[in-house]
Parts: sequence; structure tokens; C-alpha cells
Amino acid sequence: MNEPILTIVVPCYNEEAVLNETVTRLRAVLVRACREQLISQGSTILFVDDGSSDRTWEIINQYIQEYKEVTGLKLSRNFGHQNALIAGMETATPYSDCVVTIDADLQDDVNAIRKFLIKYREGFDIVYGVRDKRETDTFFKRNTALLFYGVMSRLGVKTVPNHADFRLLSRRVLEEFVKYQEENIFLRGMIPLLGFKSTEVYYNRAERFAGESKYPLKKMLNFAIDGITSFSIAPIRMVTYLGGTVAGIGFLIGLYALIQHFLGHAVSGWTSMILSIWLIGGMQLIAIGVIGEYIGKIFKETKHRPRYIIEKQQVRPKNEHFEQK
Ligand code: UDP
Ligand code: MG
Repeated sequence: MNEPILTIVVPCYNEEAVLNETVTRLRAVLVRACREQLISQGSTILFVDDGSSDRTWEIINQYIQEYKEVTGLKLSRNFGHQNALIAGMETATPYSDCVVTIDADLQDDVNAIRKFLIKYREGFDIVYGVRDKRETDTFFKRNTALLFYGVMSRLGVKTVPNHADFRLLSRRVLEEFVKYQEENIFLRGMIPLLGFKSTEVYYNRAERFAGESKYPLKKMLNFAIDGITSFSIAPIRMVTYLGGTVAGIGFLIGLYALIQHFLGHAVSGWTSMILSIWLIGGMQLIAIGVIGEYIGKIFKETKHRPRYIIEKQQVRPKNEHFEQK
């Protein structure tokens, strides 16, 4: 068997502070894996610049000039982490036997890639990187993540616990994956849906090597809402149940009021009236909001807009060992 061609896809959004270390470590991984004949010499690193406003693309370009195994993609603006990943994966699919995705900030252990490759050579199509501990994340991040995955699993969305977007996918999987053309992307939920033989590799998650998290609270919240509403209609069902319950209670209250009326008791109900108006008003607003979420999703999907736009690319197969497949 010829050694497989690996592409490591690295989404980068304003990552100038870490790139130097990232490229050094990833190149070391490639060199070692090559030496151990786990991968072929045509393997590359593909940096995806997700519309950075700092010197990220300039730096990537330097590496492209300097190192034959470095390639790059520049998106025309910031499309978000998930879309940047997809841009890299789709670009790499035609010429790679397998793709590993990893964040630029070195929180994921680059040495786990070697273990991914061993699993891949054993015949696994998907290898999930799973964090052993999360102590390096802030208390807030850890707990919000826990809550989010708890909600997801309660809603029946299958995700791999403690797995972020650090994984290996074989070409077979990628070819199936690119057929998923939806615009609302949540890779952690989509990949397990593909099936295929998969396994997990454990690693310790480190702190961000440099720079700051590109997921501020607002982005995290959006990510969570998208994740839930792209994969589950449970919130809509919950609204239906809620509506049913409220209507039931309303019916009982109505009955009670009628009985009171016929018994000749005076209406004393200003308080209860105000309360119910606010209560029902609130619930209606929630319901409309949830329904709006889904209509918004339908609206976005029907437009069939591209998920990303590539402005520049440097993904030439530079190596003479490289064979385009
Ligand atoms: N990222 C991206 N586009 C964005 C936000 C983030 O490509 O709009 C990249 C970022 O450069 C990093 C990865 O996605 O490589 C994960 O982001 P980050 O480390 O900031 O997230 P966290 O680890 O804090 O969840
Ligand atoms: Mg990070």
C-alpha cells in the first residue's frame, strides 16, 4: 500500500501570535509521520485564513514560500470557524487520502495526530480527538460547555463528549460529507451522522499558546443555538407541550371563574388577571421566538448561498512525490 496523503487543515482567525509555533510543531509532526511511513511525502498543512484583520495571511504566505509542505487558503471575509473548516476540508478532499482538522492555537495536542494516523492505518474512517481533562479551560467555559452538551444529548443529538473539531476523516467520509450542502453547520453533530467505522483518541488539552479566544460569549451563544436548532425540533415540540399545558391550565381557571360566577361570588381577580396576562404573554413570546428560529433557518437554507468564498489559494501540490488523484 502506498502511504496515504494527509492534509492538516488549520482554521486561523487573527492568529498571528501563535502561527510561528503552530507551523513548527505541525511540520515536526509531518516529518516524523513521514519518517515512520505513516503518510506520504506529499502530505501538507493547509492554513485557512478566515478573513483575519491582522497579519495572519501575510505570515501564512511566508510559510508557503519557505516550506514546500505548507499551503494556504484565504477566505474573502470572516465566515466563522465551522465554515473555515469546511472550506479547508472541501479543498483538500480531491487530493488527500485523509484530513485532520486542528485549531491554530495549539490547545489540541499535535502529537495526537500520529495516533490518529495509526488508527487510520488500522482501518478507521473517523478518529475523534477527545480531551482527557478540561482544567485548562476557564471555569465558565467548562460549565457552559457541560450545560450545552447536556442539553444536546437530552434533545437526542449525538455528539462525542469532550470532542471539539480535532479529528481525522478519511477520503471516503469526506466525499460523503461534501454532499451535505446545508448552510447551518454544526460539524460535531454532522460527522457522527455519517456513520463509518470510528474511534477515539484521548489527549490533554493545553492552554491557548498565545492570543485570545476567538469565541466571545456572543459567538458561543450563537454556536449553541445553531447547534441545537440545526439538529433538533425538540424545542418546537416543547413549545407545543408548553402551549398545551398553558391551555389546560387556562381551561381549569376558566371553569373555576365560571363556577365562582354562578355561585354569585364577586370577581376579585385583578391580581390573577394581570398575572395570567403576563404569564401567557411571556410564553407566547418564547413560542414565537422558537418558531422564528426555525423559520429563520428555513429562510437561510432556501437561499443556497455559498458557505464560504475563497479569495486566494495556494494549494498547489508542490512536492514532486505528489500525485494528483
Ligand atoms: N476561528 C476561525 N474563525 C472564527 C473564529 C475562530 O477560523 O470566526 C478559528 C481560530 O483561529 C482557532 C479556532 O477557530 O484556530 C478555534 O477558535 P478559538 O481557539 O478562539 O476557540 P476556543 O478554543 O476558545 O473555543
Ligand atoms: Mg482555542
